Amino acid sequence: MRAVIGDSVEIELPEGHDKGVIGQIYERGTSFVRRDPADRTTHQVLAANFDLVVIAEPLVQLNRKRLERELVLAHETGADVAIVLTKADLAQDPTEVRAVRDEVAGLAGRDVRVLVMSASDAPSVEAVRALVADSGTAILIGKSGVGKSTLVNVLAGEQVQDVGEVREHDGKGRHTTVDRVMVDLPGGGCVVDMPGVRGLGLWDADVGLGAAFADVEAFAQECRFRDCKHVDEPGCAVRAAVQSGELSQLRLDSYRSLAAEVEQVRARRDEARHLRGEKASDRKKRKR
Ligand code: GDP
Ligand code: ZN
Repeated sequence: MRAVIGDSVEIELPEGHDKGVIGQIYERGTSFVRRDPADRTTHQVLAANFDLVVIAEPLVQLNRKRLERELVLAHETGADVAIVLTKADLAQDPTEVRAVRDEVAGLAGRDVRVLVMSASDAPSVEAVRALVADSGTAILIGKSGVGKSTLVNVLAGEQVQDVGEVREHDGKGRHTTVDRVMVDLPGGGCVVDMPGVRGLGLWDADVGLGAAFADVEAFAQECRFRDCKHVDEPGCAVRAAVQSGELSQLRLDSYRSLAAEVEQVRARRDEARHLRGEKASDRKKRKR
């Protein structure tokens, strides 16, 4: 087990050594977990013990599918969740800003604060600052280029993160480190930018899926079968809601595809565990 940003650890300083070693990692309160991009049967913890996940998405050319996935991952952590719609200055007019904000608020549900900001608009930055100050420790997620580093810098009031274009072909910025740092903010709270997080594969995400798709799951309560997949089962209340216009087809499609991903990950992981188990018992047999 490796320590991640936010972990509380016990340090041991061996006799005669000038460097400490991590002896123990204390149990984590919240943690941000994704599927390991290099090995689909395991997972990675990227940050721990934070109070709030701030999802940054650009207000213009918002990627709804990505936002829905980020909401599932964020809710799964157990922390509070907020969305910051960045670069609002690029919107055509206030009508566009309101329309996107309202759509996102509808999609995110009641428990998620949605803030609109642009780096040059001080009041909008102050609103984000107040949110972080009220929460404690916030982690900042979002695609590279959405303005996370810029936001951290304006919140900190100084240049703490490099801002720049990210080379699309390898995802590396002009700076080569993807170190995660905790930045204390004047006014309280601290924020952790998470650069270099590109893949957002789901891992265990039943809780997150339920929270991010509370609207779908509310209808699902009324389905005839408890394990209804809302595909072609009779008495499906979710599809009935789509028929009657209470739920959008796009929303159901997103839900189904993310739910299928969670199922697939579970199946793959169980299979991998099963294989490892068999190998372990093979080894035991050989020893005997
Ligand atoms: P990161 O990859 O998420 O950390 O994004 P950066 O902070 O590096 O920003 C990417 C680009 O967007 C940079 O060119 C920024 O100058 C620009 N940017 C960031 N915030 C804003 C904003 O509020 N408005 C506008 N118009 N551009 C912004
Ligand atoms: Zn159903």
